Amino acid sequence: MYTYETLLEAITPTSGETREVFNPATGELLGRVPVQTTANVDAAIEKAVSTQASWAALPDEERQAYLNKAADAIETNAEALSELLSREQGKPLNGPGARFEGGACVAWTRVPASTPLPVEVIVDDGENYAELHYRPLGVVGVITPWNWPMLIAIWQMIPALRMGNTVVTKPSEHTTLSGLALNHIISSVLPEGVLNTVVGAGDIGTRIVESDQIDKVMFTGSTRTGKKIIEASSGNIKRLTLELGGNDAGIVLDDVDPQAIAEGLFWGAFINTGQTCAALKRLYVPDAIYDDVVNAVAELAKTMPMGIGIDEKNVLGPLQNEMQYRVVDRLVESAKASGARIVLGGNPDHDAPGYFYPTTIVADIDPKNDLVIEEQFGPVMPIIRYTDLEDAIRMANELEVGLGGSVWSSDRERAKAVAARIEAGTVWINQHGTVNPFVPFGGAKQSGYGLEFGVHGLKAVAQPQVISG
Ligand code: ADP
Repeated sequence: MYTYETLLEAITPTSGETREVFNPATGELLGRVPVQTTANVDAAIEKAVSTQASWAALPDEERQAYLNKAADAIETNAEALSELLSREQGKPLNGPGARFEGGACVAWTRVPASTPLPVEVIVDDGENYAELHYRPLGVVGVITPWNWPMLIAIWQMIPALRMGNTVVTKPSEHTTLSGLALNHIISSVLPEGVLNTVVGAGDIGTRIVESDQIDKVMFTGSTRTGKKIIEASSGNIKRLTLELGGNDAGIVLDDVDPQAIAEGLFWGAFINTGQTCAALKRLYVPDAIYDDVVNAVAELAKTMPMGIGIDEKNVLGPLQNEMQYRVVDRLVESAKASGARIVLGGNPDHDAPGYFYPTTIVADIDPKNDLVIEEQFGPVMPIIRYTDLEDAIRMANELEVGLGGSVWSSDRERAKAVAARIEAGTVWINQHGTVNPFVPFGGAKQSGYGLEFGVHGLKAVAQPQVISG
C-alpha cells in the first residue's frame, strides 16, 4: 500500500529530461514529470498493438477478474491517490472532492468490469437467423482533461480494456502526476503492455489521433480540440467518442421552494469549484421568486469554505491553472462592466498565492453577457431573470452546446415536459450533474457524440459484428 510520499516517489523519473509541477493552491513545487516526444508515443502504440491479440484472446471472465483486481488496487491506495490528486489538481480532499473522485474510480471500474454483454439474437424466425456480437476494436487512444483527471481516465480506459482492446492514454499536461499515479497502480495488476501511458501536451495527443494503428479515440476536452481531433483522425476512419464543452442551463419553475432547492443548485454549479463539464453554468429563475432563489443560494454559498485542498475543512479549492483563472476573471469583469449585480464574491486577490477565485454569484445579468454565453468553468453562477417560461427555454437552447441541463420544480410531470424541450444529452430534475455508472452519458450538439457508461459505454468501444445465416 502506498502513502502519498511513496506513490510520488514511484512515479518520479530517475533519469531523462523532466519538468516541474506546481501546486495550484500554494504555488509550491510538487514534483517532476518526464518530458516525452512523439517517439515515446510510437513506442507505446507498438507495445499496445503487440499485446492486443493476447489480451483479446483471454476469456471475458479473465479480463473481468483483472479489472476487478485493478479496482481493488485503486481502493487500497485511494488515500494516497486522493492526496496526490488534491495537491496537483487543487480539489479539496473533502466535499465532492478528491476522496469522492477516488471512490468513484473504484465504482466506475467495478461496473464495466462486471456488466454482462451477451450475444444478441436479433432474428430467429425459423427462416432467418442473425446474432450481434461485440468484438474488440484493437487499440483505443484515451486523451483526458485536468478537471477530473483520474475519474475521466477510468471512464474511458476501463470499458475499452474490458472489451479486449489495449490502451494508449495521455493525461492532461496540467495533471500529469495524477494520470501517472493512477495508471501506475492499475498497470501493476494487469499484463504488461495492456495499458500504456504517454505524457505531454497537444502534440503528443495529435500523434495518438493521427496514428493508423489507433482504432478509436476517447476524448474529453474542449470543443475546439474536439474539432481538431475529428479532422486529424480521418486517415483510418477512426471511431471517436467526444465529450466536449458544455454550458449547461438550469431552469427554475415558479412552483419551487427556494430553500429546498438551494443546496442542489449550489453543488450543481460549484462541484469541483465549477470545473466540471456538466455543471450548472447559467440559471434561469422566474421573476416571482427571483430574489428568494438568489438569496437562498448566496446564503448557502457563504457557508462553504474555500482553501487549500489538503486542509480537511475545505470543500472548494483553487482553479487548477492560470489560464482558467484568467478566463473566470475576464468573464466576471465583463458582467460587472455590463451593470450586472454582484451578490457574492467577484473580488479576487490577484496577489495572493494560488489560483483562488472567490465563490461568486451574479444577479440581474443580461442574458447575452459573455458570462452567460461562454463557459466560465469556475466558481461563478450567473442567475438570469425571466418572466415567460418560453423565453427561458429558448435561451437555454440557443447556444451551440448541449451537454446537460436541469429543471427545478415541485411538479415532476411539469418538469419532465420542460425537460423534453431542452436540447441536451442529459436533463436532470431537481438536481444537476449527477452521474451513475449504469446510466448512459453523452452530449448533444457541439458537446460531442457517443455514449459512455453502462452497456452503451461497452458497446461504444467495440466493433459490432453480425453473424447471419
Ligand atoms: P483544456 O482547454 O480544458 O485543457 P483541451 O481540449 O485543450 O482542454 O485539452 C484536453 C486534452 O486534449 C489534454 O490532454 C490536451 O493535452 C489534449 N490536446 C490538446 N490539443 C490536442 C490536439 N490537437 N490533439 C489531441 N489532443 C490534444
